[in-house]
Amino acid sequence: MKKLALFVVLAALFIAVIPAHAQDAGLTLSMSRDFGYAGFGSDIEGLFSLRASGPSNLQRVEFYVDSELIGNVDEEPFRVQFTTKDYAPGERTMYALGYLSDGSQLRSNEITRIFLSAEQARGKMVELVFPILGVVLAVTLLATVVPAMLSSKKPQRGKYGVSGGAVCPKCGLPYPLRFFSFNMGAKKFDRCPHCGKWSLVRRASKEDLAAAEARWAALDAPTEATPRISRRDQQIDDSRYEN
Ligand SMILES: [Zn+2]
Repeated sequence: MKKLALFVVLAALFIAVIPAHAQDAGLTLSMSRDFGYAGFGSDIEGLFSLRASGPSNLQRVEFYVDSELIGNVDEEPFRVQFTTKDYAPGERTMYALGYLSDGSQLRSNEITRIFLSAEQARGKMVELVFPILGVVLAVTLLATVVPAMLSSKKPQRGKYGVSGGAVCPKCGLPYPLRFFSFNMGAKKFDRCPHCGKWSLVRRASKEDLAAAEARWAALDAPTEATPRISRRDQQIDDSRYEN
């Protein structure tokens, strides 16, 4: 009994599907994006193409946006281009009418989309891109900050890795730049292992590093009377790293 009911339902579905398919095979309208925005939903903005395909005796195709004729093509490929700029923002339905050599007319499937203004599309893109940027930023910061916080290793004087050395603008001592530190243009956001302060530093020149190494050497040898770094020098150093 159950099996019979199932069979009836399937048969009904089958019969319902066949005519719909036959109709689709008449004239098929498809849309593709040439330039612009097509979101996850039905939002579109920019330059798009409508294409129609049908039986071999298809002679002419009219393309419509809502009920406005936007193109009349009488040879293959049956294609028109349109830009959403030409329409007020809102929901639009596109379809095509095809004319066969025997004089009969076919109506295509409909494609409904929400046309956005350029500003709306920009807003949507920002909505899409910002969370991704946020995740990238968070991951980069984590990859930078966490290892720096964990590493308590003092650098060795005169030894800098592949990324070169920097001079801390806060304490004036040199340290190797970490390869995976957070890049901001030509500068890196890095933590000085001497004073523990974060600053934007750039790869220092050999001369600057040598001077900083001398300051460090002086610190390590307190018998030498060289002051660690005078206030005036500190200010010069700070200003050098400000821009
Ligand atoms: Zn420092």
